[in-house]
Amino acid sequence: MSNLPVEPEFQQAVSEITQTLEPFLAKNPEYRRALEVVQIPERIIQFRVTWERDDGTLAVNRGFRCQFNSALGPYKGGLRLHPTVNLSILKFLGFEQIFKNALTGLMMGGGKGGSDFDPKGKSDNEIRRFCYAFMQELSRHIGADLDVPAGDIGTGGREIGFMFGAYKKYRNEFAGILTGKGANWGGSNIRPEATGYGVVYYVTEMLKDLDNTDWKGKKVLISGAGNVAQYAALKVLELGGKVLSLSDSTGSLIATTEEGFQASDITRIAEIKLERKSLTSFVEESANVGERFKWYLGERPWKLVEKADIALPSASQNELNGEEAKALQKAGVRYVAEGSNMGCTLDAIEVFENSRKSIKSLTNTEGVVFYAPGKAANAGGVAVSGLEMAQNSQRLKWTSEEVDSKLKEIMQTCYKTCWDTGKEFSEGSALPSLVAGANIAGFIKVANAMRD
Ligand code: GLU
Repeated sequence: MSNLPVEPEFQQAVSEITQTLEPFLAKNPEYRRALEVVQIPERIIQFRVTWERDDGTLAVNRGFRCQFNSALGPYKGGLRLHPTVNLSILKFLGFEQIFKNALTGLMMGGGKGGSDFDPKGKSDNEIRRFCYAFMQELSRHIGADLDVPAGDIGTGGREIGFMFGAYKKYRNEFAGILTGKGANWGGSNIRPEATGYGVVYYVTEMLKDLDNTDWKGKKVLISGAGNVAQYAALKVLELGGKVLSLSDSTGSLIATTEEGFQASDITRIAEIKLERKSLTSFVEESANVGERFKWYLGERPWKLVEKADIALPSASQNELNGEEAKALQKAGVRYVAEGSNMGCTLDAIEVFENSRKSIKSLTNTEGVVFYAPGKAANAGGVAVSGLEMAQNSQRLKWTSEEVDSKLKEIMQTCYKTCWDTGKEFSEGSALPSLVAGANIAGFIKVANAMRD
């Protein structure tokens, strides 16, 4: 019996990595020790955040920063502001971040932080006071060459602005201590778009390798309605795909017409989300919804359409389970790529991976669901964060075109790394496991750096 507290999300992430590393560790047992070591965060900081509500009463939250691994560079990873945040969730996110960051090919360690603060229902002033109080403590523990946080669920451009302003006040320095900054005060072009665009660039490579095809006419299910889902949807539309769904914690919106969501729908949803409102507000604006959408209160999108080609879970962890994975397979979905971190449960991954294992030749791939884990498919966000750090260090700013083309290249290389490494360790199947590829390639890079 372990004397450690139960941390279900963290244990899930560790067990996923451990299982897929087994074929590699069996051949390279000298790496077993590194797997034990890498599971323990280098440092965890926990602190109290007290702030004042608009009515003058005192509010208190828990603040955290998990500095997981610095073998490849400064700790790097987002700040999640959500009432469910606890150490299990931040440790799972920090652990995944280590390997994700390694897969970008940039020099960044892994970390994650946040608070159980709930931005929903708070005024802008309350959010600002929380962010200032949060940064008052966090500022002692971060630095451009030490730990560089960024956004995540609940932390967008506005919150990064409040936190950056707070850092400058408390520390009296303008330094690249956060990424996702505003484009005219140190931020990188394409950072807001990067995670969503990156997922689409990653899937572009999957489409080529499995079916020698592209996005044109593909029916795409997307969950979530935040930053990742919005920009993934816009890029899908740009490349000729059809977006069938978006969702949030209140329910799913399914397009009922041939053309699906339009860019103007996504722009309106982005405005609603910026006001911290739910998709129900979009539904209530009947001019938006009309005959074009159906609203499913409290449901996730995976079992709501009869036919789709691609699914991009882009909301939160464990948002697609085994039963839903089977429903997707039945609906003809051939590609699943996570815009969210650990979007699929272990059961769902098993459904996808089993469908892959039976593929004996790439000329007959019927029934397969080709699956890409978040730590590879959604690495575009942190990759452009890495590019933002590079621009800050040089006191330079690259154009949108330059950043976008670097992002594309990073996603293509990341995919190729996963495919090549997966191929080496996917005996019996002609289609490599991108899960094994991502985990093994990321782990080797970090383990070698730790040993050196
Ligand atoms: N929160 C994002 C992620 O999960 C971005 C982190 C960053 O840019 O540092 O990768």
